[in-house]
Amino acid sequence: MTRDGTDAPQPADNRRTQRLRRQLQESNDRYELVAKATNDVIYDLDISQGTVVWNDALYDKYGYRRTEPAGTVEWWAAHVHPDDAARIEAEIGGLLSNDHDTWQSRYRFRTADGSYAVVRDRAFVLRGDDGQPRRIIGSMLDITESDRLDRAKDEFSSLVSHQLRTPLTIIQLYSDMLGGGMLGGLTDDQTEYLQRINNASRRLSRLVGNILDISRLEMAKSACNPQPTDLATYVASLVGELRPLAAGRGISLQVRGQAGCPSVALDQSMLREVLLNLLTNAIHYSPAGSGRVRLSYRVSGGRCSISVSDNGIGIPAAARPHIFGRFYRADNAADSGSEGTGLGLYLSRLLTEAMGGDISYSSTAGKGTVFRVRIPS
Ligand code: ADP
Repeated sequence: MTRDGTDAPQPADNRRTQRLRRQLQESNDRYELVAKATNDVIYDLDISQGTVVWNDALYDKYGYRRTEPAGTVEWWAAHVHPDDAARIEAEIGGLLSNDHDTWQSRYRFRTADGSYAVVRDRAFVLRGDDGQPRRIIGSMLDITESDRLDRAKDEFSSLVSHQLRTPLTIIQLYSDMLGGGMLGGLTDDQTEYLQRINNASRRLSRLVGNILDISRLEMAKSACNPQPTDLATYVASLVGELRPLAAGRGISLQVRGQAGCPSVALDQSMLREVLLNLLTNAIHYSPAGSGRVRLSYRVSGGRCSISVSDNGIGIPAAARPHIFGRFYRADNAADSGSEGTGLGLYLSRLLTEAMGGDISYSSTAGKGTVFRVRIPS
């Protein structure tokens, strides 16, 4: 107690208060720096008061003056695009009424010049000891540009699909008709050239199909749709499709399945694409006349494992980091004279991952290769 009767802070208290102030300042500075670095608009919403505190990015990014009365939930709600408002309101209602603590969504948010930015909002709900939500702390990331690119990619994909596929189908149709003798007999030369036209258009058609599939998978637009499947029948029909190709190259094509294999749930068209790619590669990269390709399958521990092995040219060790990448072909494959696009394994990896599985391989250059696909069953 001092002479005037007040409690004077002791020097030790003084130092402690100063240290705490400094720590608080540092922590605030750090928060501002993180906010600047991520370029996010950050908000802190007090649920019982209905008030919102924003960081400076709200004004810097969306052009609002600092005098803008942005401090209420109503202000924020009035700036969500009318077509998104009901969905966002329902999502937040759901978030507050259940015991989830995080929320993520995208919507259009009005900027000062009246245009709309596409934002990804990620928020965290802070609850009191009674479990009731008290605050929502979140960030709004402007994804207008990547959204625009996604749309452009989407439009491009459907353009490719219609503008390239239609003429290709017509080329194939007429070359099939000519080759089938429907329009009169052909000389040997004509038959051979027609066969080349046909092969090239089929290759192009497969390439267009692959590019479309990849584009859908990259944009996460292909959902996995597992159906109950009898693996033995499924595999037999799939391998049957490739028997003419294998026979044409003098390659033996075998299936080895687990006896009494149970029925499994899998996306038949996704897995079909993967296995056709692996089998076609195995046939192409094995020695004509003495190649041996085998597909084996087994189901255990909730996993379905399928492998495709061959005694072909193998994959050089240097190719390992690139083999599942886009447009990659190992030197020995390119030198082998077999044609390829380098998209098959990339697509197979995307498809396998979309099914929740993984793909790997082991190989010895010059001796052969085994690819393994494992998916949940
Ligand atoms: P491609 O159309 O070239 O076959 P993929 O993406 O299917 O494209 O395969 C990429 C590369 O992986 C091939 O070019 C080849 O170098 C290598 N590869 C794939 N499968 C095999 C295999 N069974 N044996 C040897 N090399 C293979």
